Amino acid sequence: MSTDPFTYAALPMRVAFGQGLHPLRDQVRQLGIGRVVVICTPDRAPLAHRVAQTVGTAVVDVMAEAVMHVPAGVVDTCEQHSRNLGCDGYLAVGGGSAIGLAKALALRTGAPIIAVPTTYAGSEMTPVWGITENRVKRTGRDHAVLPRAVVYDPALTTDLPVSVSVTSGMNAIAHAVEGLYAPDRSPIVSMMAREGARALAAALPRLVDRPDDLGARGDALYGAWLCGAVLGATTMSLHHKLCHVLGGSFNLPHAQSHAIVLPHVLAFNAPFAPDMVATLTGVFGDGDPWTALWHLQQSLPMPLSLADLGFDKDDIAEVTRQVTANPYHNPRPVNETDVDILLERAWAGRQPHPSTTATAPDHVLSKEPS
Ligand code: NAD
Repeated sequence: MSTDPFTYAALPMRVAFGQGLHPLRDQVRQLGIGRVVVICTPDRAPLAHRVAQTVGTAVVDVMAEAVMHVPAGVVDTCEQHSRNLGCDGYLAVGGGSAIGLAKALALRTGAPIIAVPTTYAGSEMTPVWGITENRVKRTGRDHAVLPRAVVYDPALTTDLPVSVSVTSGMNAIAHAVEGLYAPDRSPIVSMMAREGARALAAALPRLVDRPDDLGARGDALYGAWLCGAVLGATTMSLHHKLCHVLGGSFNLPHAQSHAIVLPHVLAFNAPFAPDMVATLTGVFGDGDPWTALWHLQQSLPMPLSLADLGFDKDDIAEVTRQVTANPYHNPRPVNETDVDILLERAWAGRQPHPSTTATAPDHVLSKEPS
């Protein structure tokens, strides 16, 4: 076996894991931030105020304005308000929506972000931003929006409802799966992907049994950190494209659609991504990884089909059209017939299967594990 050529760029950030909120005050000081604005969603305001108290007098306000998909109007209002306050740093407390708003503000003002994540979505580990205007979400990569410090405290995730925890964890595993066949993957990122997926797959059933189990919550957050780092380091493919369309054009919930679609994309790409299959074999349970992941999902409290999310079968054609409209990297060629088949399986919640119209090259198929 030989090592394929690769390029790897480490992202500059400091991560403090499992030490409560104690590291926050030091992080603020080390970054030279004098006037912090705390960002959260409205329902996380009590937590955000508690975090603000930990930081102390450097906090000048708590803006509980974040909503899903970062609407441009919210960014405009919060930008103006934070400039009026002389804010020179943002502290995002919450999931991808809170961190997403902080990123949009950092993009405009240049002020650094410290993140305190409370879901498993992984946005805190990436330089990717998104802003929605006129129902279109523009996204981009900019190092100005990469949080400079991240404080992971598993205790802040014990009140994340079990069903949200499961789908959020599956959302994180999706980053790992696509990182394993990304064109810019590298050995260190692949190790993070396997370990992140393993930690989450093991932790989710435990936290379903005992949502306040700090050990299980810690393992899940550790897995989410690794999977988020994979997302930050690699280019995503068909799975993320599908979920972007399902969320952006059909308003399906982010984490749930990721969870439902994932085993189907894993199966679809498997014949063309033998290294991914080999790496994930055994991680989700016995047998091939797409079937094992699907069985794991059947045992967890989560929606199991796109129909469960209220997605109309007649809209499959439009999703397929959007997903196949422009080329992007995916290990398996993406055509309309195959995407239709994949989406029909995901819509009905049927067992995933790699069958499609495309044929994997002989050398790829022969490397598939039996
Ligand atoms: P979210 O941030 O919208 O959170 C979902 C809900 O759960 C919110 O109401 C939130 O207030 C609440 N919540 C958060 N933590 C909680 C806790 N511990 N206990 C109880 N409730 C809690 O959802 P998300 O899945 O974390 O993030 C989704 C968004 O993040 C999407 O818009 C997605 O596009 C974006 N995202 C971006 C990136 C990136 O790299 N830019 C990566 C992943 C996700």
